[in-house]
Amino acid sequence: MKRPSTPLKAVRPRFVPLALAAIVAAGCEGGPDAATSADAADLVLTDGRVVTVDASLPEAEAVAMRDGRIVAVGTSDEIRAYVGEATEVIDLAGRLAIPGFIEGHGHYMSLGRSKEILDLMDVTSWEEIVSMVEQAVAQAEPGQWIEGRGWHQEKWASIPEGSVEGVPVHDMLSAVSPENPVRLGHASGHAAFVNEAVLEAAGITGDTPNPPGGEIVMDANGDPTGLLRETAQGLAGRARSAYPNDATTPEERDAAFRRQVRLAGEDALAHGVTAFHDAGSGFGTIDRFRAMADAGELPVRLYVMVRGESLESMRDNLGDYFMDGHADGFLTVRSIKEQIDGALGPHGAWLLAPYADLPTSSGLNLEEPEVIAETARIAVDNGYQLNTHAIGDRANRETIDIYESVWEEVGVDGASLRWRVEHAQHIHPDDLPRFAELGIIASMQGVHGTSDGPWVLKRLGRERAENGAYKWRTLTDMGVVINNGTDVPVERISPVASFYSTVSRMTAEGPFYPEEALTREEALETYTINNAYAAFDEDDLGSITVGKYADIAVLDRDILTIPMDEIPEAQVDYTIVHGEVRYRR
Ligand SMILES: [Zn+2]
Repeated sequence: MKRPSTPLKAVRPRFVPLALAAIVAAGCEGGPDAATSADAADLVLTDGRVVTVDASLPEAEAVAMRDGRIVAVGTSDEIRAYVGEATEVIDLAGRLAIPGFIEGHGHYMSLGRSKEILDLMDVTSWEEIVSMVEQAVAQAEPGQWIEGRGWHQEKWASIPEGSVEGVPVHDMLSAVSPENPVRLGHASGHAAFVNEAVLEAAGITGDTPNPPGGEIVMDANGDPTGLLRETAQGLAGRARSAYPNDATTPEERDAAFRRQVRLAGEDALAHGVTAFHDAGSGFGTIDRFRAMADAGELPVRLYVMVRGESLESMRDNLGDYFMDGHADGFLTVRSIKEQIDGALGPHGAWLLAPYADLPTSSGLNLEEPEVIAETARIAVDNGYQLNTHAIGDRANRETIDIYESVWEEVGVDGASLRWRVEHAQHIHPDDLPRFAELGIIASMQGVHGTSDGPWVLKRLGRERAENGAYKWRTLTDMGVVINNGTDVPVERISPVASFYSTVSRMTAEGPFYPEEALTREEALETYTINNAYAAFDEDDLGSITVGKYADIAVLDRDILTIPMDEIPEAQVDYTIVHGEVRYRR
């Protein structure tokens, strides 16, 4: 195995045991101006409730940070010894400080781009979408593309007459946008809705065959409705690329990229997120991330999964792209993202048996199992982790089968590779224990359980929903490491919202199998130390521990103790990354 060397890790400061830190702290006690320039902290938090997620000192009052790392954790009196002339001191006034939230699965650049197009996440009717597009058309040049994302038919109060498979046809939308191509992404990211101008530009007619792994939805007359599922979205994507709205020169594209990185970062930081697992970027995007990381310009730490590269390109390049904690831990590349199926909402999740509400379909297999198996071999060869999107029970089974058989074939200890199943949403009861037995990480999203809850039974029927859907408690009790996150921009990036879902399982229509909830302490672990572990980062991130990077979130109320229904109101007051306050409310 030609695992690339990781020189950065070797020169990192060794983990300083807490006992030693306490001695250091005690040794510095000697009056208000005791801290010399050598041991003065850059930033100190005092008088708070610091929940560390570190069993050796679970709770403290204060933290001192210097040069991007945590140098002491203890009582306020102890930590005041680290205050020098240049130290910034924040009085937490009893507030909760926790390790910075790590977004365990999101789409960083999609989040950035989503800030520059129509936000359809909160709309409650098709008519509202049509009127938003109509207003955008009024401000657009003829021919200019109008884009949006985040609509979800299950959130609407009613579905227009004449809809096909629960989604409207394009007539109303096309009527308000005759000269402007319109492309509106589904919240899941697994479908797009387009108007007639896009259908024309993309050359999609009633005779266009479905591309492999995708579907052009047709009405009863055999005409396209405007809904493009999975890979069929690529037809509209190619038409879009042919008509750039802006950013035509390399300089403009670079500026747009940087702007979107900043916009995504602002959203993350405002929600207490200090590190972000990006579920998929190609080498070109990684090059740009690396340039920004080298210049100290990444707003949060990125754990980027390689996505969308051919097998050949991965064979040739993975070795060169391996980065472990590059640029002070701001960029790590050592994993690959694959995708075996679609999402449950648009009937794209690959199931063992047909959908309860679409008996003609068992969902979609996107990347073929043999391609994923070959990717798995390449991953092992290059010391990369493999993270496969699998939502349906068939998708989960196939993925676990691939992992298990490739490990056996190449003779590696699979558990040490920490491979993940992204979403791990609907799992056949027979396959639940296999996660624990094989040491596979379930990279789940608490908020998916509650936003999907109201319609999961419709898709799966009672038995499958009860025995295999969003099995947080069951998997945790089996000893499986579970990640947490939001899949942003599929959901908003808020860890507080996903934390609340994880501990309450509360949907708009009541609790969804609340026996599968986690405790608040467990939920905090899923969002911090578990996400760090799933990125091989537990020595540097995931807890407030001396020697680790100083990434901390301060909340305005204590989500670990306040009444359950008050959790969603919690706000982030400070977000600290690398010992620097990067967000203040
Ligand atoms: Zn995703």
